Amino acid sequence: MNEDSSQLVSIDAAEPASESRKALFGLEAEALAALMVKAGEPAWRGRQLTEALYRQRITDLNEITTLPKLLRQRLTADGWQVGRPEIVQVFQSADGTERYLVQCWDGDGLTVETVWMPDGDGGETGDGSDAETEEDDAKPRQRATICVSSQVGCAVNCQFCLTAKLGLQRNLSAGEIAGQVLAVFARHGVEVGRDRVNLVFMGMGEPFLNYDNFMAAARLLVREVGLSPQRMTVSTSGIVPGIERIAQEPPELRPKLAISLNAPNDAIRGEIMPINRKWPIAALIEAVRQVKLRPRERITFEYVLLGGVTDRPEHAVEVTRLIRRMGLPAKVNLIAWNPGPGIAYATPQPEAVEAFRRILAEAGVPAYVRKPRGRDIYAACGQLKRTVET
Ligand code: SAH
Ligand code: SF4
Repeated sequence: MNEDSSQLVSIDAAEPASESRKALFGLEAEALAALMVKAGEPAWRGRQLTEALYRQRITDLNEITTLPKLLRQRLTADGWQVGRPEIVQVFQSADGTERYLVQCWDGDGLTVETVWMPDGDGGETGDGSDAETEEDDAKPRQRATICVSSQVGCAVNCQFCLTAKLGLQRNLSAGEIAGQVLAVFARHGVEVGRDRVNLVFMGMGEPFLNYDNFMAAARLLVREVGLSPQRMTVSTSGIVPGIERIAQEPPELRPKLAISLNAPNDAIRGEIMPINRKWPIAALIEAVRQVKLRPRERITFEYVLLGGVTDRPEHAVEVTRLIRRMGLPAKVNLIAWNPGPGIAYATPQPEAVEAFRRILAEAGVPAYVRKPRGRDIYAACGQLKRTVET
């Protein structure tokens, strides 16, 4: 093949991530195929590119050797790069949790936070999935949960959450969302299909206020990376239009749903989560009803226990009634509030947490206490804030 640079003809096709930086990572298979066709290549070159980005996890365009060298040069000359987000800083907790600052790709210098929690947790406790046996193999299977961010900051303004203090800086692109997962996979040598990794979209931001990019990332992770949507959980503060949209997604792509209930009634919820004034609890539950659950699937309700505010026995009784009245398969994940600077709530007493759990369990509502992970490195729920201090 003649590799004369005069042949470096422009082959712009798919929409670039931004004016100046064009990331291949984040484009779905169809878009990559279209890019190849536009370049005068057969569409199956798109498949090779897809494999390289999402299965082989190649981060340098020039190392995608399944593509002809000239094609790689033309793409590069046109400004294309792989553009997968990168881990730029790591904070390690005594409990094995790692918090990462991940550099976005937009050239605006923003970072987001992603958390790796070995041995699972993060909302999956008690789902029965621990019953699998380990393979008798030289290298033990890894088990972990990755907590993924969907926005830089958040606009929802829940009073107990540190991320809220940032306000919304911007939405993440699909590539920036899925890229957090692959960057962490690469760091830990995760083998898809062998290691048991759960994803929780519970990092910074409200996924349903960035619905299209969030769902595009979920599609990439299912179709191209090969993860099961039943190992992914998306948590929402209760954005009703988002719940209605996810209810329409096909079951082979739809992540499981968690709703941040956090209060036993509209009066308290409206105080701690202003969003409740727009979409009160009844509206939330109506929307949740539209989700067609898979066999054995349950809706998760997260409930942050704020000392003296939402952790009393009468609150537990009210939550029990609410869940039972709803009549859907559900479980409750109790999260003791994690403190943050400038937020005037109290962490509940351990006895109050246990009493709360018991009231639910005895009324037949499965309830689990989520272990705080990585509190010492500010990685626990609601502590994610784009800071470099630990
Ligand atoms: N924005 C989404 C997902 C990210 S927050 C949502 O709100 O659901 C993930 C979970 O952390 C939510 O259930 C939220 O209620 C909880 N959370 C927020 N701040 C917290 C804190 N300081 N301590 C404990 N949990 C907190
Ligand atoms: Fe946003 Fe969730 Fe924090 Fe509320 S709890 S401010 S929705 S990140």
